[in-house]
Amino acid sequence: MEVNLLSYTKNPQKIIYASARQCYSKFSAYSIYSKKDKLPSSKLKKFIAELVKRGHLSPLEHVSFTFAASGISRICTHQLVRHRIASYSQQSQRYVGMDDFDFVLPDSIKKDPRAKKEFLEAVSYLKNKYQKIRGILEESSGLDKEKINQDLRFLLPQACGTKIVISMNARQLLHFFAERLCLRAQWEVRGLAAKMLSFSRKVLPEIFDGAGPKCKKLNFCPESALDCPLYPNKK
Ligand SMILES: Cc1cc2nc3c(=O)[nH]c(=O)nc-3n(C[C@H](O)[C@H](O)[C@H](O)COP(=O)(O)OP(=O)(O)OC[C@H]3O[C@@H](n4cnc5c(N)ncnc54)[C@H](O)[C@@H]3O)c2cc1C
Repeated sequence: MEVNLLSYTKNPQKIIYASARQCYSKFSAYSIYSKKDKLPSSKLKKFIAELVKRGHLSPLEHVSFTFAASGISRICTHQLVRHRIASYSQQSQRYVGMDDFDFVLPDSIKKDPRAKKEFLEAVSYLKNKYQKIRGILEESSGLDKEKINQDLRFLLPQACGTKIVISMNARQLLHFFAERLCLRAQWEVRGLAAKMLSFSRKVLPEIFDGAGPKCKKLNFCPESALDCPLYPNKK
């Protein structure tokens, strides 16, 4: 899996500060934003950390992060895109042919030579059939490449690799991390969340140092997990 931070809102601390102060000030956010050029960064950080502690989170929505992820499976992105307060652009299996598709091999299967052999054989079988059916359709259907790809993708496994661009605002990132860093979340989406958190922390530690699975804030596990090593469940 490869994850990179492509971009984030310029002057994020000043934007959050001006938005938060706007709620209580007779001056405009623009004048607050402009004046605060000289406010020491340590004060801004403290102010923002306090906002997060108090749960005054709407100012965080004005700052967003854009990530690029690749080498993840469609299983992972299917879970990712359930998070609705975000924007996504994903590699198409219609415009991009998948004749020699990448795939994600889970560790449990990788570690077991017999299971790995069966898995690789199944992938190779599917690739072979994908290419064969392409040949047949090209010869007889009269359909163009896109239309053929569009139907051929019905054959692709969920392990199929994909590439996606993700934009989320800082508030939604906190929520995404709370859900997907939970040890009950699936390992691949958890790995993606961990990498996104590590980038986010470098940009805004005052917000993201405290981010993590929801139990971290609650001090108990809200899931019905009896075996979680982090926190006991509510009962
Ligand atoms: C460990 C784990 C297991 C899961 N298992 C399953 C499963 O078996 N089956 C399954 O279908 N899903 C499953 N999910 C997905 C889960 O149900 C959510 O769809 C997913 O986590 C997205 O989060 P969210 O609902 O908080 O929404 P987001 O889209 O991230 O939105 C953030 C918040 O905005 C608010 N919001 C957004 N849209 C609406 C809306 N339309 N109406 C009201 N409020 C809204 C909510 O407060 C929401 O929490 C699982 C998730 C996890 C973490």
